[in-house]
Amino acid sequence: MSNPIPENPDYIEYIESHKDEYEKDLFELLSIPSISSQTIHEADVARTAQWICDRLTSMNLDAQIVETTGHPAVFAQTKNPNPDLPTILFYGHYDVQPVDPLNLWKTPPFEPVINDGFIYARGASDDKGQMFTHILGPEAWYKTTGSMPVNVKYILEGDEESGGDAMDTFVRNNADLLACDCVVISDSQMFAPGRPAICYGLRGLAYVEVIYKGPNKDLHSGTFGGAITNPANALCKAIAGVHDDKYNVTFPGFYADVENIQLAEQERLAGLGIDETEFLASAGVTDSVGESGYTITERHWARPTFDVNGIISGYTGEGSKTVLPAVASAKMSCRLVPYQDPEKIVESIRQYFQDACPPGITMEFIVHSYTPAVIVDVNNPFVKAAAKTLEKAFGRSPEFTRDGGSIPIVSAFTEALNSPVLLLGWGQITDNIHSPNERFCLADFHRGIKASAILLKQLAGIEPKSAGKE
Ligand SMILES: [Zn+2]
Repeated sequence: MSNPIPENPDYIEYIESHKDEYEKDLFELLSIPSISSQTIHEADVARTAQWICDRLTSMNLDAQIVETTGHPAVFAQTKNPNPDLPTILFYGHYDVQPVDPLNLWKTPPFEPVINDGFIYARGASDDKGQMFTHILGPEAWYKTTGSMPVNVKYILEGDEESGGDAMDTFVRNNADLLACDCVVISDSQMFAPGRPAICYGLRGLAYVEVIYKGPNKDLHSGTFGGAITNPANALCKAIAGVHDDKYNVTFPGFYADVENIQLAEQERLAGLGIDETEFLASAGVTDSVGESGYTITERHWARPTFDVNGIISGYTGEGSKTVLPAVASAKMSCRLVPYQDPEKIVESIRQYFQDACPPGITMEFIVHSYTPAVIVDVNNPFVKAAAKTLEKAFGRSPEFTRDGGSIPIVSAFTEALNSPVLLLGWGQITDNIHSPNERFCLADFHRGIKASAILLKQLAGIEPKSAGKE
């Protein structure tokens, strides 16, 4: 690994000489049990918001606590922003997951400690530790120059871990307040230790539930079997038809808007050197089937899918009971790729299961949620600036990755603000997020602070969206 080159001696020196204070301050933040899903911690959540608000105020930002439909969020922005500079919006969350089972923690979750180069505490990686780097980096600019090279905004929420959509609603209702040229989020992982990554693609999601209803009660399968349509048989047959023998999804129009994976992208993904055998082994399997003509990495990062998430019908208790069930239901979801319209896909799923519904069965269809996929053009100037930043801060150019999962808030930013989102995670998959003994690599905490400071400088030269408008 080459030695990272300091970009501006002043703020880099400032950052390097304040490591101890940064750790002390992070420990203070980590010691507040801001568990958003437990009402007993409501005051702790509010106290954390205030702690952050005070810190942002001390950086000469216009900071305030804002109401959402859930817990309070913290919003801050540059006072008197310069219209010639781009505006960077930092998003993060200060709430944390519950800590149970407590007995599996080696040290108390809200008494942070450093051990073997890792900070152990609930929220260390997800997301207080990562989020705090984007407060400290810009703060170093303010402390050394009295200003920042770009306009900044912050929206830091306290509901991410409680499953609500308070921030999604807030973003969509406050697009003007949050208007920016680019969004920066560090709430994810690097590709591997020492290998920073820029995640440029997330899959979307369409989550539905299909309920096939037959007779008005469970029936004797001897007396009625063969005469009455069995909803479980019917639902299984319909589900079995969703994939053809090449493992393509058969919902009408499912692939209509899907772009083929370009050669450059195929090469980029192959170049990551992901060991697919090891990947399968991590799930406890030795082989898998899927859409033909694609690698396993392409299949779960860049291709749309259909999966049954849960299926219930009839008798599932001990021993046997010969019934013909009255009802069969399945929860199912599709992961979506860029340009697929989730509403169209949901309608297509509904139509498919309606058409597959045989005589004697009626269907109930529930839409649980949907969100579109996100893709960021890797040639966009913000991505290029981020890549340079990571190279300087981590001493290695980043990997460009996609992720098979979905982050609804990223879709909200993309749709409501029409700005690219930079997903720059400083964590590792071994950080035990949501589990006992959550941790965050101490060196990556400090590299993340440097990266955040360097990022401001790298982004400063990019022309803002509003330029030329008047
Ligand atoms: Zn998180």
